[in-house]
Amino acid sequence: MKNNYLKLEFLSLPENQAFARDAVAAFCLPLNPTLSQLSDVKTAVSEAVTNCTVHAYRGGAGIITVECTTDEHALHIKISDRGAGIADVEEAVQPFFTTLPSDERSGMGFTIMQTFMDEFSVHSKKGEGTLVCMSKRFDPEVENA
Ligand code: ATP
Ligand code: MG
Repeated sequence: MKNNYLKLEFLSLPENQAFARDAVAAFCLPLNPTLSQLSDVKTAVSEAVTNCTVHAYRGGAGIITVECTTDEHALHIKISDRGAGIADVEEAVQPFFTTLPSDERSGMGFTIMQTFMDEFSVHSKKGEGTLVCMSKRFDPEVENA
């Protein structure tokens, strides 16, 4: 498949989370993902977008940007906000770490993104915003002779 590019910008409303997740899923369909791979991508995008809504903008209105590229066998996603930022990224990505324990958050969003995607990194600066980069490979099935 040819290289492709998609950029989405939308307001940090909870109802836009499903839209972003489904748009990214539709974008990577030409790479022939399995249902399980597609489900992994959707879950990872949902977690990242939810984090922008809940943590970066804390329920207020802000812009979330989702940029995707594809190359022959992989989807690369960048999800960014210009919200609160993260003081200590190493701490934030630990399983069960959350700054909102009272708010039914389990602190598993970053761990889910890391587990479900093949590449994952977070770049953030307190007060400036956060960028989450993720990639998923869709290697072609090895055909049985
Ligand atoms: P869960 O995802 O299980 O509901 P959570 O959102 O707290 O809980 P993670 O998604 O792993 O857990 O995020 C860990 C912590 O990192 C958050 O509690 C928050 O402090 C910080 N964080 C994550 N994403 C952002 C973001 N976009 N902007 C600011 N802080 C963030
Ligand atoms: Mg989260």
